[in-house]
Amino acid sequence: MSQDHTSTPIWQNLGLIQTGVDRLDQGFAVFDGDRALVFSNRAFGALLGIGAVVRGVLFHDLFRLDVDGQVSGVLQERDGIEIDQYPAEKGGLVVVITDRAGEQRRDGEIQALREHNALRLAHDELERRAEVRAQELRTEMIERQRAEETLQKLSLAVEQSPASVLITDVDGIIEYANSKFFEVTGYDSDKVIGHNLKLLQTDYAIQEQYQDIWKTILSGQVWRGELHSLRKDGTRYWEFASISPIAAPSGIITHFVAVKEDITVRKHHEEQLLRQAHYDQLTNLPNRLLILDRLTQALARMRRENTLVAVLFIDIDHFKRINDTLGHDAGDQLLRESARRLEHCVREEDTVARFGGDEFVVVLTGLRSPLQSEVVIEKIAAAFAAPFRIEEHEIFSSTSIGVTVAPLDGDDPHILMRNADVAMYQAKADGRNIARFFTQALNEKARVRMSMESRLRHALEHDEFHLCYQPLVAVTSGRIIGAEALLRWINPDLGEVPPVRFIPLAEESGLIVPIGEWVLHQACRDMRVWLDSGLCLSHIAVNVSSRQFATGDLAKITAKALSHNGLSSDQLHLEITESLLLDDVPRVVNILRELVDMGIGLSVDDFGTGYSSLSYLRRFALKTLKIDRSFIRDVTTSADAAALTEAIVAMAHRLALTVVAEGVESTEQLAFLDACACDVAQGFLLGRPMVSKMFATTVRRQT
Ligand code: C2E
Ligand code: MG
Ligand code: MG
Repeated sequence: MSQDHTSTPIWQNLGLIQTGVDRLDQGFAVFDGDRALVFSNRAFGALLGIGAVVRGVLFHDLFRLDVDGQVSGVLQERDGIEIDQYPAEKGGLVVVITDRAGEQRRDGEIQALREHNALRLAHDELERRAEVRAQELRTEMIERQRAEETLQKLSLAVEQSPASVLITDVDGIIEYANSKFFEVTGYDSDKVIGHNLKLLQTDYAIQEQYQDIWKTILSGQVWRGELHSLRKDGTRYWEFASISPIAAPSGIITHFVAVKEDITVRKHHEEQLLRQAHYDQLTNLPNRLLILDRLTQALARMRRENTLVAVLFIDIDHFKRINDTLGHDAGDQLLRESARRLEHCVREEDTVARFGGDEFVVVLTGLRSPLQSEVVIEKIAAAFAAPFRIEEHEIFSSTSIGVTVAPLDGDDPHILMRNADVAMYQAKADGRNIARFFTQALNEKARVRMSMESRLRHALEHDEFHLCYQPLVAVTSGRIIGAEALLRWINPDLGEVPPVRFIPLAEESGLIVPIGEWVLHQACRDMRVWLDSGLCLSHIAVNVSSRQFATGDLAKITAKALSHNGLSSDQLHLEITESLLLDDVPRVVNILRELVDMGIGLSVDDFGTGYSSLSYLRRFALKTLKIDRSFIRDVTTSADAAALTEAIVAMAHRLALTVVAEGVESTEQLAFLDACACDVAQGFLLGRPMVSKMFATTVRRQT
């Protein structure tokens, strides 16, 4: 199908032309490229003796033709009739018939011309054929119209497509772009159409990707992938593109079509996901994954520049206690605020990351000397000196920091991280709120600690625990009124491990919860045995860790231990620490009240070592106050310690509390306590912690 059929303005003026040429004596007709009649005048039909000639009649149906396609010479030579044919544009043909005889010719002669068979076909047949052809033309027209409509719909769809569509020639010169494209890029049509695609490429785009695209589409294949494109205003956006080659029927690629979907939003989501993988949600700091990456980069830079890198492993002191007692929301707030404070202590090029839980890692880069890390450590200590305001609470926190310096302590990121962790544990063991540098000796210690923890995990099931009992003695009568249960662990490999070493480990790992439950049951069982054997004892004291208040069922566990062994609640005292009371958290307060309501006596252990606030003593309906060993140790040598002890006893009595003095080792100390009217004494002088049977014997012996 040729393009020429579409619109020919000449048709519009056909009427005028028709009247004009109908006046001519000469016959005149025009045939199109297909040799179909498109136009003829009146004389043309008259001279051929067929009247009106129908449009669409074919040239070779009208005339008898020579082998070379010319009107037959026989016809040409007829009495003064001359038929001339001229080639016209686009394969068309113009035929002119001139009658030299003119008006002298009679009708009969014209008739004779017809009879002489100037015409190939009869008029009727010509008409019939013309009708068939007209029908064909109509069908063709309808089809063409349909095709045009489809094309129009298609181009409308392309134009209004939510995807950008771009058509370029083989050299990448843009021939078409739809409105979405202009909308997305912000370009004007004249800046795009006729310009090279390169306009849209960004510096970001990797040269290799473009090479890949060209290679793919020039080989006739479709390229699909993500492109980072440039808007007119210089901003970038992501799009997903399908770029296809368009080939002519000959197979030669003439154009490329790019259909591109703006995926900036999706990319954004993806980036967010990636961020989630690399950043901590709570603090927005890089996470464990990213910090390892940053450390690796820092180490590479260190090697290039011959500088040092310091890794600080930071743990928030007593975070678990705050989290367990104040609740997770408060814990989260503390972590967020800690993160913010840490960030303020370092330079841009350094990284602060949340390693997990209450652990943070700081990587300091480009250091000239290890001393530079100490400056940061001091800054951190100062930053944590100010109290944290969390909900209505004012919380004091500090950090334990482990430091390792590369390349001095190694240059493998994992090893550095582990070494800093080891040093951090040493800082914790050394009393917290302190920084420790990594050394080989520390490494060894950490190894021991880890192996201890793994053994502690199996201590309960392997039955490695037992309880010792230390007598509680009434100062005035000197009689044993009860005992404090003290946990002992004997491991086949480690031997006897002192509580000061394994209890903190059990608390950190949470193992203290099941272990503590075992202690409660065992102590009550032993008390039952003693009472059954006729011993007269007022109560048994059991230590509970603040971690045991976190699970919420301490009161239930205690009630079970009592009822299992047929003990009344006043026969059990629970020793708690001052810090537990200080946190003043609803959950803890509730459990304490539950215990008090049950009739269980609460003792504050190690009184005087912590914050020693007096107001809570009354508030929590405590029963006993245990003055810490450090005071008793000095009562006979230090006037201050003596005065303090005296004051504590007097104050406790005014609050109707019983006072127990811990760590009584000498008769002088005991005499002093007697003088200040202290109620109960406990210490090596009066009896060391001993196994259950031995304790029973000791009690029995005094009666
Ligand atoms: P604590 O509750 O203050 O227990 C008293 C500690 O002082 C015991 O140490 C005891 O052996 C020691 N002691 C008693 N009299 C004297 C003395 O005259 N001189 C000296 N120097 N020390 C004396 P132990 O048994 O090593 O326990 C240490 C700590 O471990 C306990 O301190 C307690 O806080 C904790 N603990 C022990 N058993 C348990 C338990 O079952 N659960 C929990 N959560 N903690 C426990
Ligand atoms: Mg105790
Ligand atoms: Mg104590």
